[in-house]
Amino acid sequence: MVSRRILLGALASGLAAPALAWAEGDQPSVLTRKGRRTRAALKTQASDSAALKKVLAEVKPLEGEHDADAAADAHAAPPQLVSPDEALGRLKHGNTLFSRGGASIALPGAARIAELAGGQKPFAVIVGCSDSRTAPELIFDCNLGELFVVRVAGSTVSQEGLGSIVYAVEHLGAPLVVVLGHTKCGAVGAAVDVATKHADLRGSLLSMVLPIIPAVLEAQDKHPADLQDAAIRQNVRDTAARLKVADGVLAEKVAEGRLKIVSATYDLSTAQVAFDA
Ligand SMILES: [Zn+2]
Repeated sequence: MVSRRILLGALASGLAAPALAWAEGDQPSVLTRKGRRTRAALKTQASDSAALKKVLAEVKPLEGEHDADAAADAHAAPPQLVSPDEALGRLKHGNTLFSRGGASIALPGAARIAELAGGQKPFAVIVGCSDSRTAPELIFDCNLGELFVVRVAGSTVSQEGLGSIVYAVEHLGAPLVVVLGHTKCGAVGAAVDVATKHADLRGSLLSMVLPIIPAVLEAQDKHPADLQDAAIRQNVRDTAARLKVADGVLAEKVAEGRLKIVSATYDLSTAQVAFDA
C-alpha cells in the first residue's frame, strides 16, 4: 500500500504524475510530462504496480517522513510557525513598508537558497492576478520561501488552483489564504464588457472571464458608480467565500481557527492593499 505522502513526494519529482493523473481522472485524456495520453493508457500504466513500486521505492521521502507509521498519517501537516492572524499582520506590515517605498527584503544569498532547497514553509497563500504590476512578493515585502502563489488573470481559481491551495495548507502548513484582486483589472474589465456590452470574446479568453461574470452581475445589481471596480472587489470576496467551502480540508481548518481565508484589493496607484478582514 503506497501512502498518499509518498505519492505526493513522487509527484514532486515528476515520477508518479501519470498514476496520480489517472487516479484523479474523470477527463478523457490528461496532459502529462510526456504529452497527452488517453485515460485508458494511463490506467494501464498505473496498474503496472511492480514498475510503480520500483519507482516509488527510489523516491526520497518527504521532509520529516522517517517511517511507515508517519507515512500512514495522510493528514499530518508540519506544525504552524505562525497563527493566521500573525500571518495576516506580516502581510499588512510588509505592504505598509512597500507602499511607503521602504521595502526591506534583500536577495537571498547562497546559504539561504541552499536551506530552502531542503524544504519550504510559506506563511501565506496568495491567490492573485497575473498582472505584471501585482507581484505578491514585492507588494508584501516578502522573500523566497515565504509565499505560495497561485496566479491567473482575474484572480479566479480553477480545480488545479484549488488543489495547489489545499497542498500549501495541508502539506506545507500555510495558515492564511489571501484572494487578491487589484484596481483596473483588465480581466474583470473584459468580464464587464461581456456581461454589459456583449463583447465578443472566444476560446480561451472567454474561458478566462466566464468565472468572473457572476461577480459582475452581483455588483451590477447594486448600481455602483464604477461597475468594474465594484466587480473587482465582489469577485475576490466571492472567491474567498467559495474557497471556505470548496474543500473539506480548508473548511475543517477554518472551523478550527487554524486557517483564515480573506479577500483583499491592491490599489495600483497607491501601492496599498485593502484587506476585507
Ligand atoms: Zn488583473
